[in-house]
Amino acid sequence: MPYRSVVLVKQVPDTKNISGNAMTPEGTINRAALPAVFNPEDLNALEMALQVRDRQGGEVIALSMGPPSAAEVLREALFRGADGAVLLSDRKFAGADTLATSYALACAVRAIEKERGKVDLVFAGRQAIDGDTAQVGPGIATRLGYTQLTLVDRIENLDPQKRLIRVRRKLEGRHEIVEAPLPVMITVVRELNRPRYPTVPMRLASGQAEISTWTNKVLQLDERTIGLKGSPTCVSRIFSPQRDKGEMIGDGLRDPKGTANLLIAKLLSKDLLPL
Ligand SMILES: Cc1cc2nc3c(=O)[nH]c(=O)nc-3n(C[C@H](O)[C@H](O)[C@H](O)COP(=O)(O)OP(=O)(O)OC[C@H]3O[C@@H](n4cnc5c(N)ncnc54)[C@H](O)[C@@H]3O)c2cc1C
Repeated sequence: MPYRSVVLVKQVPDTKNISGNAMTPEGTINRAALPAVFNPEDLNALEMALQVRDRQGGEVIALSMGPPSAAEVLREALFRGADGAVLLSDRKFAGADTLATSYALACAVRAIEKERGKVDLVFAGRQAIDGDTAQVGPGIATRLGYTQLTLVDRIENLDPQKRLIRVRRKLEGRHEIVEAPLPVMITVVRELNRPRYPTVPMRLASGQAEISTWTNKVLQLDERTIGLKGSPTCVSRIFSPQRDKGEMIGDGLRDPKGTANLLIAKLLSKDLLPL
């Protein structure tokens, strides 16, 4: 049975080239001043969706919200094999925090469903390398009422009869196998696959595919719920925390047991160890 997948792809600043004017006075990122790249984990999400389509049929639609230049990541998604691409681009969407971003993207998934038919799988990266919150995937799952499967590094099984998916989640020091009914929202980790390169035939074939650009005239969302107006979060400052360096001097430091006792006493005195 064919599956319709939507893959969220974000254009992010190239973190190898961060300059002094990276942030605006409002605390949002100054995207115009920075070179941009495909968010790395979104390439893995795209590859996972393409593998599902290649094995079991269906289609893959890439979706992004950003300035007109974000069309570059969508064009690249098409080169890599996506069947369609939608860009949400409107000044009214600009300056969105995770709440407003996940709302607009969830509404776009619904609009894609209206246009093309039921969506079974939504894929995203675990987190974007600029905002770094890892909240957008779960936010979209909540708004769409989909089961969220986060930190996925493998699809174990997709059962077309029962419409069930079984995935492996990569947790710290262990894996977890989880099963859920479709539709689901999946966020992926970077280690899971090696994204395919756009080959010349793929580039030529994708030359026909159009990127649909949707402004808020298409989605008709209440302006109080999108962009800066719909964003209660304000990033007031970004800084590296200063680490205080101290010295510990004491008789107990002569042997390992004494050192351990001294450290435990110190941590307890600062309430840093559970009793
Ligand atoms: C330095 C910095 C700090 C920020 N801190 C916060 C904060 O603390 N709280 C807050 O609410 N906002 C914050 N933001 C704003 C944040 O960048 C936006 O809300 C952003 O659009 C989504 O959040 P994220 O980048 O953290 O996404 P994440 O949740 O980390 O992204 C996970 C995945 O969601 C998908 N995705 C995310 N955004 C898009 C998009 N625009 N189009 C398509 N797919 C997308 C991608 O697949 C991505 O891999 C911050 C921005 C910056 C630059």
